[in-house]
Formats: sequence, structure tokens, C-alpha cells
Amino acid sequence: MKIKSIRLKAAINFIAISLISIVTTVVVLSIFIHYRFQSLTLVWSSIFILTLSAVVVALCASWYLSKRMTTPINQMIEMVRKVGEGDFDHRVIITSDDELKDLADNLNSMTNQLKERMIESQEERAKVKSMLADVADGVIVTDSEGKIQLINPKAERLFGVEPEYTLGRTVIEISQNYQMQDLIESTLKGERTKRELEISFPRRKIVKVKTRPLRGPDKKIFGTITTFDDLTKVHNLIEARKDFTANVSHELRTPIASIKALAESLLAGAKDDPKKAQQFLEDINTETERLTFLINDILDLSRLESSESQIRKEDIDLADLALRVVERMRTMASKKSIELIVEDQSELVRIKGDYDQIMLAVSNLVNNAIKYTPEKGKVRIKLYTDEKHSFLSISDTGIGIPKKDIPRIFERFYVVDRARSRESGGTGLGLSIVKHIIENHRGKIKAKSTLGKGSDFIISLPKK
Ligand code: ADP
Repeated sequence: MKIKSIRLKAAINFIAISLISIVTTVVVLSIFIHYRFQSLTLVWSSIFILTLSAVVVALCASWYLSKRMTTPINQMIEMVRKVGEGDFDHRVIITSDDELKDLADNLNSMTNQLKERMIESQEERAKVKSMLADVADGVIVTDSEGKIQLINPKAERLFGVEPEYTLGRTVIEISQNYQMQDLIESTLKGERTKRELEISFPRRKIVKVKTRPLRGPDKKIFGTITTFDDLTKVHNLIEARKDFTANVSHELRTPIASIKALAESLLAGAKDDPKKAQQFLEDINTETERLTFLINDILDLSRLESSESQIRKEDIDLADLALRVVERMRTMASKKSIELIVEDQSELVRIKGDYDQIMLAVSNLVNNAIKYTPEKGKVRIKLYTDEKHSFLSISDTGIGIPKKDIPRIFERFYVVDRARSRESGGTGLGLSIVKHIIENHRGKIKAKSTLGKGSDFIISLPKK
């Protein structure tokens, strides 16, 4: 039978030694008693009493000695187990002055050093983590098996994952992107990579991914570091610019082509027919006006885009601003006998913002309301507030907007009815300018409309 307990082994050793000593002593004593007293009874009774008491003493002594020897060893075994579990505060205290004390002292000092190293490495990790938190790029560090060891908040946001979910997982588990996993695998073989990738989850993003192997002093690869530069905004901007340029060119071409055709007709002889000449010149005038509206709207948009970061923060009384807009639009409204009013309101409706920009937004909305309302209609401006927002609504009794078009009317160059828009001098840019201004002011704009009955545009802006 194999005995595993060190204490039992020691006890058996002590007992064996004690028994040999007892047997030897008893034999010697028996011989002595036999020769000295010549009595066998005395010999046997002495043997019995001596053996019994010696065995009891031997058992107690061996138990005590084995305990004294094995307790420190057990303490050290317990300590090593605790260190293995990450508890570096456990120590062995031995009072004896022997090799076991040396062993315990060495073990204690080794644990101290391990604890210091552990604290140092935790501090290093915390430093790296806090540095990575401020980095503009997303960063992921993996070990030699491609398992994530470190990830910064930017990368977590990019992949829409919670911090506790990421550590110990592979890049494919958090990104669901095979190309990215391929890059990490090539990097673990020693390659440096650089690629532009599209991430589709949780949101579509275009990112520039750069990977690099991490090597130890022996040049062996122990992990990878990957950085992610989010290029989505730049890409979208480039796409939007391309679309905008194409749209502007298209919109400019139409009136210019009309003017050219009209001028050519005049030159070809229409100038000699006063009636025709008059008509063609009026058409040229209309097309030129259209061009002017278009160029003004394009200029407004470009001014807004270039002043995005420097919006003035003026104290604006919205009722006063609405009255000024009404003043400016009065002639346009009265030409169509449209009633244009700012509804009576008792409370003061104020916001902080750029007066000229808010004026432009409200003017565009009132302009549309008049443009798309038939004669003798009504256009009303209403102002109200809640705890945090000021509201301005412009409602009309006009032609209304089909339900399917409402979500698109704020897009650049989107018009519901091209012929009607052209006729009224529309450019398709007015509402996109309004939206741009309101969003620059951290506000929102909503459109409600019933076809044939009228529309209601509601702007909400933060009071502060
Ligand atoms: P436009 O210069 O053509 O008016 P906008 O960007 O201002 O361009 O408006 C986009 C489209 O939304 C218009 O073509 C028009 O069909 C529709 N629209 C805007 N405001 C109104 C309104 N008050 N009533 C009906 N339709 C409107």
C-alpha cells in the first residue's frame, strides 16, 4: 500500500525506531532480572509492564514528533497552493532553527518578490490601458493564440461590444469579420499588414486596419497589436461631395440650356417678331432668376458648411424674429391673398443661437409655405416651449406633401413635383438648408402633412 500522508510516514518511522529500542531494552532488562532475581514470574510481569508503558510512551512521542516535523511542511504546501491561486499575502512562520526554517524563509521572500512583480505588471497594464483610452484610434492587443488581451474603448465602440465580453475572445468573435481574422493570423506569422476594410456590424463602417506582430527579446512573436482608424465620415463626405457636384452641374445645366436655346431662337429671327421676342425675353428672365435662386442656395449651403464650427451664440427672441420674417414675406403673401400671421402668445420664447442662420431657416420655411399654398390660404407661425426646448411651428393650408415623400424632402435637390417646383422657382435645396441650420444648433425639425389640406413644419431648439 502506498502511503501519501507525510505525517503518517513520519509517525510510522518513529514507531518503528521506538519499537526496536523497546524490544532491545526489554530483552536486556529481562536478562538482567533473570540473573539477578532468578524469578520467571517477575521476568514476565516486568516484560509486560515495561512493554506496555514503553509502547504507550513511544506512540505519544512519535505522534508528537511527527506532528512537529510535518506541520511546517503542510503550512508551506498550503502557502504554495494559495500563491498558485493568486493570494500573495499568505506567509509561513516557523520558529525552529533548522533547514525547514530556511526553506520557509526562502519561500516567503520568493512570494514577496512575486507579489512585487505582480503589482508592477498590474501597474504597467493600468498605465497602458489609460494611455490607450485616450488614443484616437481603436486598438486591440492579442496574445500568441490571437486571443484578445487588451482592447480600448474606441475599438469596443467600433464593434459594439461590452468590455467584459471581449477579453480572451478572438477578433472574429467580436467583429464577425473574416478578413480581419486573416490579417491577425498573417501577423502571428510575422507579417505587418495595412488594409482598408468594411465592417458591417453593428453599423457599416470603413476602417483603415494596421497590424503588427509583438516580439519578445528573443525575437519570438508573443502577440499582435492592431489599430483601427475610422474613415467612415471622410468616405461619406467624399461621396456626398461627388453627389452634390453631380447634382449642381445637372441643376445648372437645365436653365443654361434653356437660356442658350432661347437666345439662339432670338438670333435666328424671333427678335424680329415683337410678340415672340417679348415672350422669349421673359422666359430668359425667369431662367436667370432660377439660376440666381440656385446659386444663392448653393452659396448659403457652402457658407453654413464652412461656419459649422463657429456658430454665434446670441440671445434670440423667437417671436421678434418671426415678426421680422413675416414683415419681409408680407408682399409675397399678399400677392396671393394669403393670410400670414404670428399667433398671439403670452410667454417669452428664447433660444441661444446664430440670429442670421435661424432667420434664414424660418424664412425658407415661410417661403415654402406661401409657395405651396393656393390663393386665399393661411400661413401661421406658432411659438411655444417645454422645460428644455423652444418650438416654432409653421403651418399652412396648402397642397400638402404625399406621405411617401415626407421622409425625403430634407435631402439635397429632392423635389416632390419637379414641374411645380420649377414653376415656383424652387431649387430643392431650401429644406436641406433648414435642416442643416437646425442640426447645427442641436435642434430637430419634423414635417407633418396631409395631401390637399396643408403642412406643418415644427422646429425644436434647446433653450440653452
Ligand atoms: P424647393 O426649392 O423645391 O421648394 P425645398 O427643399 O424647399 O425645395 O422643398 C423640397 C420639396 O418639399 C418641395 O419641392 C416641395 O415639394 C415640398 N415642400 C416643402 N415645403 C412644402 C410645403 N409647405 N407644402 C407642400 N410641399 C412642400
